[in-house]
Amino acid sequence: MNIILLGPPGAGKGTQARKLVEERNMVQLSTGDMLREARRNGTEMGKKAGEIMDRGDLVSDDVVIGIIREQLEQDNGAGGYIFDGFPRTLAQAEALGRLLIDMGENLDAVIEMQVDDDALVGRITARSSCKACGEVYNDITKPIPADGKCVNCGSDDIIRRPDDNEESLRTRLFAYYKQTSPLVGYYYAKGDLKAVDGLANMDEVAASIAKALR
Ligand code: AMP
Repeated sequence: MNIILLGPPGAGKGTQARKLVEERNMVQLSTGDMLREARRNGTEMGKKAGEIMDRGDLVSDDVVIGIIREQLEQDNGAGGYIFDGFPRTLAQAEALGRLLIDMGENLDAVIEMQVDDDALVGRITARSSCKACGEVYNDITKPIPADGKCVNCGSDDIIRRPDDNEESLRTRLFAYYKQTSPLVGYYYAKGDLKAVDGLANMDEVAASIAKALR
């Protein structure tokens, strides 16, 4: 099964993707994580992308389609792919459609995670995550443990993303509504779209996604 998690920044796509990986042996393909890794590795592409990401704008379609194509060529897909943060534009959606056809694969569902903007600002500006395993923390609802160690993997490398600030978030939300939200209509028209309430607690959202995938 191959699915897309669609939703604005802070909707909980990464959290739900990790749950699906654990429970269904699926492979999470997060273009945001891949770009951050390229940046850490200091590649030319990573450096250029880093500046764009800090502003909150979208990296070019050619770059992200290229990195997704590379991943799909390397991975064997195991229990299927979860596309997290990709596609973000119509050009990316069409490229993904072609890549899946070339691989003889289908897109089984597009889960739209619905949340309102006020909740997003609160979630994102309070967010940090474990660099080692991706576990997400929130200053109010799930603070980092007093010993500074990740509850999931024990690493003490818990970080805030440089783009998780109010100014960059405003740009990211603008990019979402302008460039990504047309994909809701695109996938609805194809009959692939399932909406879930992304504001419910993590387990309830996971249950709604499981129901949508049945
Ligand atoms: P994310 O971790 O998904 O919130 O992505 C962080 C940042 O990486 C975004 O604000 C964009 O600058 C960039 N990015 C991630 N995925 C894409 C994509 N599919 N298309 C363009 N830019 C992306």
